[in-house]
Amino acid sequence: MNVLVINCGSSSLKFQLIDSENEKVIGKGLCERIGIDGSVISFTPNGGEKIVTKSPMKDHTDAIKLVIDALTDEKTGVVKNLNDINAVGHRIVHGGEKFNKATIIDEEVMKAIEECNDLAPLHNPANLIGVRACQNLMPNTPQIAVFDTAFHQTMPEEAYLYGLPYDMYEKYHIRRYGFHGTSHDFVSHAAADMLGKNYDELKTIVCHLGNGASVSAVKNGKCVDTSMGLTPLEGLIMGTRSGDLDPAILEFLCDKENLDIHGVLNILNKKSGVYGLSEELSSDFRDLEDGYIEGKENCIRAVDTFCYRVAKYIGAYTAAMNGVDAICFTAGVGENSGFVREIILKYLGYLGITIDKEINKTRGKAVEISTADSKVKVLVIPTNEELAIARQTVALL
Ligand code: ADP
Repeated sequence: MNVLVINCGSSSLKFQLIDSENEKVIGKGLCERIGIDGSVISFTPNGGEKIVTKSPMKDHTDAIKLVIDALTDEKTGVVKNLNDINAVGHRIVHGGEKFNKATIIDEEVMKAIEECNDLAPLHNPANLIGVRACQNLMPNTPQIAVFDTAFHQTMPEEAYLYGLPYDMYEKYHIRRYGFHGTSHDFVSHAAADMLGKNYDELKTIVCHLGNGASVSAVKNGKCVDTSMGLTPLEGLIMGTRSGDLDPAILEFLCDKENLDIHGVLNILNKKSGVYGLSEELSSDFRDLEDGYIEGKENCIRAVDTFCYRVAKYIGAYTAAMNGVDAICFTAGVGENSGFVREIILKYLGYLGITIDKEINKTRGKAVEISTADSKVKVLVIPTNEELAIARQTVALL
């Protein structure tokens, strides 16, 4: 079965066509600047060169049309026609409490997703536009929603409730939802496979460290806690996001900087994290690592503060699960930066963790970096959210 995986943002759309039989990517690409001057689609057929074409896209329907044209192009395409696309898997950011697993999309599901828009105003409406565009152009092809939040719906009440008046939860559904669920799900399963252990009998901590970053605790096959909250702003220090802070800082900043709440949130989302801590040097860990090695104070400060926060979460989740069997690193930083992994793991000697410093230099490959006698296994596992979406789509159909 060929599954088209769509990840639709407000002005961009990432796509991959995956053959579910052999799990190979047949073709993939990206539409950028949708609805803005200078729209461009890039498409890479499996084994071929990347083709970049400037083409106006006034909306997401135009973008999907171009995606289909690229996939079915006589010369550079990868399938003959639309009939060769058997299903579409959509990444949907927020499924609220309504969705605890992937779902076939019908009108009722569309409405239920729309009702979650409040919880992810930047993402969900864009995701839904992508679904509508595909429904219009491929009315007979099943469309499946795969939610970032679904994997975390197994969290117990004590993990998802905030210390707010309970009616805030009842009235507005304010609670911890968590994100990157598809990745945490994929990586925790891959960890069990790598260790040859039963998924339902493991205690795993997954550190998804990319530009956005989150940690999750998976006990006996269920997510029991995660660091992102109602929104993806909570938890770890990220590329440009602050993560956890004293909520009273918001009012303090409004007063001091003469900003409204939106101005302050803009700082917390776009000007904070390692970018803010490094005095706006960079949100990219490659730059920060270089600076760290050169002894630049701002880079050392940013990376050390980031790593300390990750280590604190690992400690907290070890307590929450009363132990841990495996710690996994994934996403851009987690997969590629042995440097960052080593700083984080230095805090965890008390767990009886020892790592092989040579193997820890591995980039972007699934590998065990702990030594044979380490009490807790430490794994690097490249995440693959598109493949996870394709797998869930096929499983549903
Ligand atoms: P997102 O999906 O949240 O945008 P990614 O998981 O793609 O993020 O991670 C992107 C980040 O990964 C980059 O900003 C960079 O900090 C980091 N990264 C990528 N490659 C490397 C590398 N070789 N060494 C260190 N960090 C890297």
